[in-house]
Amino acid sequence: MDIERLKTEYRLRYDHHTHTIYSRVGPYLHGKGRIIDNARAAAKRGLDSLAITDHGPSDFYGLALKRIPDMRRDIAKAKLTFPKLKVYLGVEADIVDTPNGLDVSPADFDKFDFVNAGYHYVPRCHMIHNWLSFHMPWPDFLCRRLRKQNTARIVKALKSNDINILTHPGDKAFIDEYAVAKACEETGTLVEINARHKHPNADDLRIYKQYDVRFVISSDAHRPKHVGRYAESLALAIEAGIDTDRIVNIEKR
Ligand SMILES: [Zn+2]
Ligand SMILES: [Zn+2]
Repeated sequence: MDIERLKTEYRLRYDHHTHTIYSRVGPYLHGKGRIIDNARAAAKRGLDSLAITDHGPSDFYGLALKRIPDMRRDIAKAKLTFPKLKVYLGVEADIVDTPNGLDVSPADFDKFDFVNAGYHYVPRCHMIHNWLSFHMPWPDFLCRRLRKQNTARIVKALKSNDINILTHPGDKAFIDEYAVAKACEETGTLVEINARHKHPNADDLRIYKQYDVRFVISSDAHRPKHVGRYAESLALAIEAGIDTDRIVNIEKR
């Protein structure tokens, strides 16, 4: 598929999944740019809006909830600098074993404009198993069991919370795409097509498209230069036979 031609035919309206230096462990920066740097990149690429969605607090390099006032202050500055760009504060919560299935409690939801959620290799038992099963030979019966447990955790998280985007489903954890697609359909959760990760791939998307779900393209940028990346993800969606009208943040130029 001609990626350059896609860029001239379609534009990305918004990128609601990007990371900044607020995803960090002490001095190690997992996200490389500041909020203002992501905003500059988004404005340059002509996006209508941008969301800063650093990792959930249980992640190795998750955001510290006490830094939220600093993030809000940085966002206010970015809005002043780029008045045409809307900038939101979100979070990419981790799907973990808590009463609501996320590492962001219902009481903390209001601290964000919206909450995205996905699987990561957080320091919890099930994710250590997921890491092992993804990176080395792992018995089939254990993979099947893990897949069932991962799927149940996602479905529970989707049904227990108002989640905006399910980020990179199928990456970092085996899942039953049919059951996850059904849960996204029932809860109105956007299925992400992620520019950074291998899943969902075209085969996964062919399953999701059979359900009444809508899709969103995200760069998942960890560096400002990647903010607003979308053309490869759009090509993947088209390869999977998804009607571009179902991708909420794409429009014809
Ligand atoms: Zn992620
Ligand atoms: Zn991310």
